Amino acid sequence: MMRIFVIATAAAFVPLAALAQPCPGNPQALGTERALEVDANATPRVGRKQFPSTLPLNDKELVLTFDDGPWPTTTPKVLDALKHECVQATFFLLGRNVEAHLAIARRELAEGHSLGHHTFSHPLLSHMPLAKAEAEINRGITADEYALYGQRRSDPTIPFFRFPGFVSSPALLGYLQDRGIVVFGTDVWASDWLPMTPDQELHLILSRIDRVGRGIVLLHDTKAQTARMLPAFLRELKRRGYRIVHVVPPGRRRILN
Ligand SMILES: [Zn+2]
Repeated sequence: MMRIFVIATAAAFVPLAALAQPCPGNPQALGTERALEVDANATPRVGRKQFPSTLPLNDKELVLTFDDGPWPTTTPKVLDALKHECVQATFFLLGRNVEAHLAIARRELAEGHSLGHHTFSHPLLSHMPLAKAEAEINRGITADEYALYGQRRSDPTIPFFRFPGFVSSPALLGYLQDRGIVVFGTDVWASDWLPMTPDQELHLILSRIDRVGRGIVLLHDTKAQTARMLPAFLRELKRRGYRIVHVVPPGRRRILN
């Protein structure tokens, strides 16, 4: 019994740098610096654009997040770019897109990304009765869980959620906190819902990241301009000395790495 305890303790304190693996086929890869366990008890809401505080990140550490997918014309290109750079990201899934594009969602899972939830069909949840909003959240989680893990359940494997349009309410924030689900806002975004060229988007997001210096980055894997600028974006993050942090649920660090 004591022996098992000692082994488990030692494993839990493996230095994070030791987790980094060489990136196959790309010695210059940006890579993933470390995994960060995010627990609703310690940080129920993160992202300074919406909330008072964000993740405990060091200077020049970024968490990359992608919303609204999976989408067949763009998400595979995003996954290719991330894989080439050995970057682990977080996708906030729409249940209806997961149901329609199962293979892409399963590829995200197989490639080690964290999969959070973003409702079933992207309504603005504060604009409907509370019970209906809760049902929409759970319909999304259930669709995602069934597609990814084969179980119809509204208790999420990865308890991360992002509100469509960042439109929340105190009641819904309390509901998610009571369930131990972390609400992700963001610290910086690319405004990639607006039409612009990939080059314009690249310069806009880099200038905003340089201004905040660290934090959660919001992109949309459903946007062609984002998919197209991503390879250059990741190379430029490396050149500017940024490092990528992969957010994972408590106790999952060694499983996901
Ligand atoms: Zn969205």
